[in-house]
Amino acid sequence: MTQDISNFAALNLNPAILAAIKAVGYEEPSPIQSQSIPVILAGHDMIGQAQTGTGKTAAFALPLLSQLDPSRREPQILVLVPTRELALQVATACETYSTEMPGVKVVALYGGAPMGPQLKSLRMGAQVLVATPGRLCDHLRRDDNLLATVQHLVLDEADEMLKLGFMDDLEFIFEAMPESRQTVLFSATLPPSIRAIAERHLKEPQHVRIAAKTQTVARIEQAHLMVHADQKPASVLRLLEVENFDALIAFVRTKQATLDLAELLERQGYRVSALNGDMPQAQREKTIESLKDGSLDIVVATDVAARGLDVARITHVLNVDMPYDPESYVHRIGRTGRAGREGRALLLVTPRERRMLQVIERVTGQRVGEIRLPDAEAVLEARISRLADGVGSLLADADTTHGALRQELCERLQCDPSTLAAALLAKLTSGRALDIESVRREQPLTPGAGRGERPRGERPERGDRPERGERPDRGERRPMQPLPEGRVRCRTALGARDGVAAKNLLGAIINEGGMDREAIGRIQIRDSFSLVELPEEGLERLLTKLKDTRVAGKALRLRRYRED
Ligand code: AMP
Repeated sequence: MTQDISNFAALNLNPAILAAIKAVGYEEPSPIQSQSIPVILAGHDMIGQAQTGTGKTAAFALPLLSQLDPSRREPQILVLVPTRELALQVATACETYSTEMPGVKVVALYGGAPMGPQLKSLRMGAQVLVATPGRLCDHLRRDDNLLATVQHLVLDEADEMLKLGFMDDLEFIFEAMPESRQTVLFSATLPPSIRAIAERHLKEPQHVRIAAKTQTVARIEQAHLMVHADQKPASVLRLLEVENFDALIAFVRTKQATLDLAELLERQGYRVSALNGDMPQAQREKTIESLKDGSLDIVVATDVAARGLDVARITHVLNVDMPYDPESYVHRIGRTGRAGREGRALLLVTPRERRMLQVIERVTGQRVGEIRLPDAEAVLEARISRLADGVGSLLADADTTHGALRQELCERLQCDPSTLAAALLAKLTSGRALDIESVRREQPLTPGAGRGERPRGERPERGDRPERGERPDRGERRPMQPLPEGRVRCRTALGARDGVAAKNLLGAIINEGGMDREAIGRIQIRDSFSLVELPEEGLERLLTKLKDTRVAGKALRLRRYRED
């Protein structure tokens, strides 16, 4: 039987732990946390079915650290994890949660690193050991008493540990521990091998699992992008450049993250505000009003602060951090597609969170296809289109209203109108590069990791291959075939994700451009743009005719595409 408590303060955690949680900025326990913490604090053995991204580390670390006695300088908590990467991650989390508990020492024990420093930390009286099974066995062979004082054992990602062949090591470790210990097992899946371990080594375990209901999100177009965590800010910047949004809500996990991202976007010139539970109610309401009336375009929010938010202008939801469970995902993306409109939801997924993505797809019953990070060309195209839009609407009256001023400036500066135009452009576009090389140099990024890639430093897993054919933009970076004399390529920022197919482009160019079918060459539809081969002769005329053409409800804006 489990309790569900939705406030950290109500969970009976040690005040020092509560202070640390406040400092990291968690607003409320995630579902797995509010269910697991009371069970673990009560001393029960537990089986938690949860994957990375649900907040499972804090779900066991907070209640176990709450019970730790810092004055005893010997191992009290042992967390077993499958990989070195996870060992470091869990150890860092335990250090963070125990910052207000002086005297608590955490050590990560993993292979591929020298034994010396690990032995030293053990000798200095570390109370929390976070270990991979193989390396822990090496330590146990030197000191078979190492685990004699451990009262709490956590098996984290137990299914992964078994997949990596750690079964024998686990048995060796169980033998070296007191029978009276508490054992908590977390696993994303519960195959028979895990159930067998639980049967042998856990005492009347309680089960904690987050029930998932299927929910539909019909009008919302969804996509995900694989990124490493350190690439998130740069990826967000690029996405914002090419996504054609009216208002957008970006979700992150902590209050601090709302402030950091809002500040980054503000520096880039976006009209943006953070929205988090620390802000007074009046200020939160004002932020939402500003989003409604168009004086703000982006809000960076935590789940708590965005609850119930209903703003029809929101065309996009950007999940910068993964939600804890499919329900909050559905809730988040439901902030768009309001009032019967369509919406677009984007999700950044780090390699460790792939499984959560699968769970979301299963629960929503919809595929969340993969998109690639917009390349420099797409960013440049978007910038030029925006500029053309802004200036284009002024062309009709410009000569009448500003002709005299242009003449005056040309005389004063002794330049011709085209030089003046170029100088004004330089002023107008300051801060945003409009040539391909400069755009490429901005926000340097390693290519996005595909669905199947593992995070750096982790061991590969069997059957873990990038899934081919999933990338709509595959081939985008391949060098282009040279064109015959007199032929050019033109590009539009409309692509498959805008619902554009070759026949739509063909129809528009023939009907509105007055072009012969035979004169139109190869049409390539990519996810975020398309290319069309056309004759060079008469191109300017054709592009002028197509100036106001719309395809699939969006402006075509066909432009000559110059490859570098
Ligand atoms: P995990 O599932 O343990 O890998 O946690 C995933 C991420 O969620 C980590 O970056 C945690 O810092 C974060 N996190 C865990 N619990 C909370 C919470 N209650 N509020 C906000 N973020 C959290």
